[in-house]
Amino acid sequence: MRIFWPAAFGRNRRRGNAMPADGDPRSTRPSPTGDERRGKAVNEDNVLHQTTLGDLITLEGIGVHSGLPVRMVLHPAEAGTGVVFRRTGLPGGVERRIPAKREAVGATELCTVIGEPSGASVSTIEHLMAALAGMGVDNVTVEIDGPEVPIMDGSSWHFVEGIETVGVETLRAPRRIIKVLKPVRLEHGRSWAELTPREHGFCVDVEIDFPTPLIGRQRRTVEVTPSTFSNEIARARTFGFMKDVEFLWKKNLALGASLENTVALGEDRIINPEGLRFPDEFVRHKILDAVGDLALAGMPLQATYRATAPGHKVNAMMLERLFADKTAYAIVEAPAARRAYAGREVGVAAAAFAADRT
Ligand SMILES: [Zn+2]
Repeated sequence: MRIFWPAAFGRNRRRGNAMPADGDPRSTRPSPTGDERRGKAVNEDNVLHQTTLGDLITLEGIGVHSGLPVRMVLHPAEAGTGVVFRRTGLPGGVERRIPAKREAVGATELCTVIGEPSGASVSTIEHLMAALAGMGVDNVTVEIDGPEVPIMDGSSWHFVEGIETVGVETLRAPRRIIKVLKPVRLEHGRSWAELTPREHGFCVDVEIDFPTPLIGRQRRTVEVTPSTFSNEIARARTFGFMKDVEFLWKKNLALGASLENTVALGEDRIINPEGLRFPDEFVRHKILDAVGDLALAGMPLQATYRATAPGHKVNAMMLERLFADKTAYAIVEAPAARRAYAGREVGVAAAAFAADRT
């Protein structure tokens, strides 16, 4: 895999700022703060603002299911764009735009696939979507020349590293979020999940229980911020059982899977010579997948997501269930979380929009 950083990065300027005569915003503006770089775009007017990337990020790798090489370029995008894939490499040189939204989800069997009516699709988007959502990047155009996002090391880490390198740029438009107003629950097989209202931010609480002592029962709760996502979640890799690999290969899947991008579980041991990155890497990866799958809501959620044994299907069903009930959510401008003022914390009122404007 290869990653290309632009020579100039970290240009965390607000759009509309007067540019100095030499065109280099860094010559008059102090270097970005850690919060700015990590996408916490709080401005003077007490609302969070939309963000995009400070510069291009180019990544090359292989698709874990296709095994094919793919090149992906993440482009900064205007406010209101959301995350949109621009699929190139199609017959006849045509390009197709595929918005990364739940309406475009076509399959959730082993990974999350989005597509559009002519048949163009992009699969295994969840680790990239998790990185963008986790790091607070609202608007990106993802140019990709193949049908599958590169698996990189099986986690979100290389995407996060790219975002941290180019920085996050604050745009003028206020960030809009989906505020969950009442509990929404579902059961599916042995999985159970719910979204519940929350005062601020987005929290994910996941429990898994696998009948092997290599995993067993694991539970973790994470208040998702750029800092917690980068430090606690982004490095957790995808995992699979060796006994399942043959089955997948027969279906022409997992052709690119290797110990470089998957934690492989044998009968009684982890096959990867380097072992695990966290003792509970498995549940952390399930949280990573949930952050990525729920990002297909198209805006950040203000809610707590609790789930036992979630998979891509359950995460997608959760969004369907939420949006099916227009009394369960509202689209609002995101208030700055809380502000310490004169020694106390002051909440900021959010302006409500109609619930059906999704
Ligand atoms: Zn995953």
